[in-house]
Amino acid sequence: TNSGKTLIISNRLPVKIERKKGKLKFTASEGGLATGLGSFYKDNGSWWIGWPGIIPKTEEEEQHIREELYKLNLIPVFLTQTEIKNYYEGFSNAVLWPLCHYRPSYVELRDDYWDAYEQVNEKFAKASLPYIEAETTIWVHDYQLMLLPKYIREQSQPSSIGYFHHIPFPPPELFSMLPWRKQLLDGLSSADLVGFHTYENAHNFLEANQTLLNAEIHHHHIKLEGRSCFVDVFPMGIDYEKYKRQAIDKKTQLYAAELKKLFEDKKIILSVDRLDYSKGILQRLASYEKLLLKYPELQEKVVLYMLIVPSRDQVNQYKKLRNEIDRKVGNINAVLGSPGWQPVSYFYKSLPFDKLSAVYAAADVCLVSSLYDGMNLVAKEYIASKQLQTGALVLSEFAGASKELSDALLINPYAIEDSSDILYEALMMSESEKQERMQACQQVVEKFNVFHWVNLFFQRLREIKEQQNKAI
Ligand code: UDP
Repeated sequence: TNSGKTLIISNRLPVKIERKKGKLKFTASEGGLATGLGSFYKDNGSWWIGWPGIIPKTEEEEQHIREELYKLNLIPVFLTQTEIKNYYEGFSNAVLWPLCHYRPSYVELRDDYWDAYEQVNEKFAKASLPYIEAETTIWVHDYQLMLLPKYIREQSQPSSIGYFHHIPFPPPELFSMLPWRKQLLDGLSSADLVGFHTYENAHNFLEANQTLLNAEIHHHHIKLEGRSCFVDVFPMGIDYEKYKRQAIDKKTQLYAAELKKLFEDKKIILSVDRLDYSKGILQRLASYEKLLLKYPELQEKVVLYMLIVPSRDQVNQYKKLRNEIDRKVGNINAVLGSPGWQPVSYFYKSLPFDKLSAVYAAADVCLVSSLYDGMNLVAKEYIASKQLQTGALVLSEFAGASKELSDALLINPYAIEDSSDILYEALMMSESEKQERMQACQQVVEKFNVFHWVNLFFQRLREIKEQQNKAI
């Protein structure tokens, strides 16, 4: 058990475990959260609790995984196939995800999903208890674990509990449709501090507490049944230096140059996202098509390099979206293309970090068209990767990142023609304007990086604790 230490809890542990020739291979995750929190959970006596992403075949295997992870300060919570189906794919990804991304029609209100969600949150609480002492600071991450602050509070007395919501929080009218709305709000407001990427999300959450729980709201502070919960805004950042370093690396530059040559120095418009209906992929294709039709002089002079990372593609809505993307890309290429030119270069796969960096470096324009997005880290990664070349960022006003990156070209992705005009503006922009805007964006992304984000959250949690202690 730990004392004066940190306990991070998230659905997924920052590790990948694969079975290779009967042996288990452990690889540390390179995700932003893992990087930002690395120095905290690896401290002596600090821990990270979460699902290891694998179902052990035998008890010995489970024990082996436990022991290996223990060496990395990671504590696994094992989930059964049914739990994964109902808690993760069900309640998390077929209820909360679509609801929080403004897709009420995609929400599957099923009692068995809810039951599993409660039960798995309880399982996480139970797994956490041995690691909680009076001096422990707990940081719970994301929408899969909204009940956890309450469950932990009921069963232990940690120093403080923070929670961060990485996806949007919808307006109360939308959130109200959930039969379990009160339990979810109550779960979160049991934390000492609840964080969001944007002011709008924080505001929605405060309002939901007021209207649905009758909570007293004072500025950014919820008062409920003798408890108090602070709500604040912490826009998540990236490891800026890592992207910068990789971008100026010789090999990256070489690969970026090869890529440009491959596309015969056509202007490259880049998009990178997971397959998801929140990313506005079809709207993006429509505005690119509009661009080519409205400005025919661009034909054979540009290419849309569209990288989509496979995700959830066994789920119906995702499968359907994937088919629609295939069809739309095929259609644009067939109708507008010519023997030497494919307007859309579409990849359905993921790229290793060095290749991704080169693609960012090579792109003249990065187009982010999210219909609703918590933050969108791709926008920030592109900014950090433009160290040698200039480039332009066209960014949806519905991505959290747009609140910080006011020097990007902002679009309403639903307005297809307007977006195509702004895309045109980005392609035609003078080098000096591109440079000016890029530098302004870089300053923001560099300063408000992921380490800054982590420190700010912990600092706020400490301040709240001090205030609480004074009040007692
Ligand atoms: N990414 C990746 N593999 C790739 C391309 C991108 O892992 O082949 C990463 C990308 O670098 C970024 C993340 O996927 O960090 C996507 O994060 P974002 O916030 O943009 O969207 P999310 O997927 O979290 O909705």
